[in-house]
Amino acid sequence: MTSLDAPLAVLGLGAAGSSALWRAAARGADVIGFEQHTPGHPHGSSHGHSRLFRTALVEGPQYVGLAQHAQRLWRELEQVTGTELLTLCGGLFLGPEQGRLLPPILETIRAHDLPHELLDAAAVRSRFDQHTIDDGTAGVLDPGTGVVRAEAGIHAAVRAAVGLGAQVRTGERITAVEPVDTGVEVHSTGLDGPRTWRFGRVIMATGAWTPSLLPALTVPMQVRRTLLTWFGAPDAARFGPDRFGVFLHEADGYLAWGAPVLEGYGVKVGLHDLVVPAVDDPSTNPLEVAPHEWAEVAGWVSRRLPDLDAGDVRAEGCMYTHTPDEAFSIGAPAAYPGVVLAAACSGHGFKHATAVGDAAAALAVDEEPPVDLAPFSPDRFS
Ligand SMILES: Cc1cc2nc3c(=O)[nH]c(=O)nc-3n(C[C@H](O)[C@H](O)[C@H](O)COP(=O)(O)OP(=O)(O)OC[C@H]3O[C@@H](n4cnc5c(N)ncnc54)[C@H](O)[C@@H]3O)c2cc1C
Repeated sequence: MTSLDAPLAVLGLGAAGSSALWRAAARGADVIGFEQHTPGHPHGSSHGHSRLFRTALVEGPQYVGLAQHAQRLWRELEQVTGTELLTLCGGLFLGPEQGRLLPPILETIRAHDLPHELLDAAAVRSRFDQHTIDDGTAGVLDPGTGVVRAEAGIHAAVRAAVGLGAQVRTGERITAVEPVDTGVEVHSTGLDGPRTWRFGRVIMATGAWTPSLLPALTVPMQVRRTLLTWFGAPDAARFGPDRFGVFLHEADGYLAWGAPVLEGYGVKVGLHDLVVPAVDDPSTNPLEVAPHEWAEVAGWVSRRLPDLDAGDVRAEGCMYTHTPDEAFSIGAPAAYPGVVLAAACSGHGFKHATAVGDAAAALAVDEEPPVDLAPFSPDRFS
């Protein structure tokens, strides 16, 4: 009988994988994590200092349990590592009452009885005059929204995992993943050259690279280039977490999102549905951004946040991995026995990463997952 290198491996140590490694180690698993770069690198989907954390989710009530579990774990990770990761500065959601933003957010709020405050246009204008809104725009204020630190969160999770005995191999690229009778065979290439590993189970957290490593998955995943853009705030205090907070704003045909001035970064603004090119090979998506790529978001900023400097732009390339229903894929895909997928897809996964990693780790050691994973089955399209 072939012996195993370890009972469990986590492939990819971005947002989901670093958390899965930590949560597997916290369950006492003998686990090895693999990363082609080093954790916290800027070549995947998890760089750029911060991500929005929301519980009153426009994505639907089915994500609330995941977000609440994630919040508990971000707090635990803060405690374990002594790092500030999550700042709940509050969030303002703006849009037409019958638009595509406020109705689903209010549905989520009502389904889970979440604290909130409703604002009419006059109240928004007097309390949050940084935003230029249309007549008829309403606001929902959510105290449970904030910002989670991106690279710091990944570093913290890896540190916590290593502290619990997990091994980490960086600069080691996985070239193939094959279920075999005894578990899963993993081929890699790294400093020691090509190598074949055998594990009982494997958690796949390879983000945008997942479709090429697991081509028989039945959940379609499309990788798209997207941007991280920050804008200068001449009056930084007016755009800080205590006076500005996080926002989502449906206006000018876009769902814009943003985060306040934080730790040397300007106001982060993105357009969720900006049409962006597909990425054939995630390894070649450039970090550099050409000025024409940010022109649309700069135009939106000059109209809707006119006191920011729309000409003072810092930008980095990033990637979204989309599924057709914009939902995650967490669970054991039928096509790959022994594999647990931890794919936090479609541009809203960072906040949930600790919960996604925890759920994947639970499944990998045959425990009941801590949250309902039915909406996220990797086989829901078969
Ligand atoms: C511009 C932008 C804004 C976003 N805003 C938000 C937000 O406000 N709130 C929110 O919750 N989410 C947001 N997201 C989404 C969130 O960032 C992602 O869902 C999340 O970071 C995805 O994490 P991941 O672990 O799946 O992927 P990644 O973090 O990319 O991790 C995958 C890892 O696997 C490694 N890997 C891949 N292939 C291999 C291989 N063959 N061998 C070894 N290692 C490999 C990669 O190097 C990488 O480190 C945003 C995303 C973008 C791009």
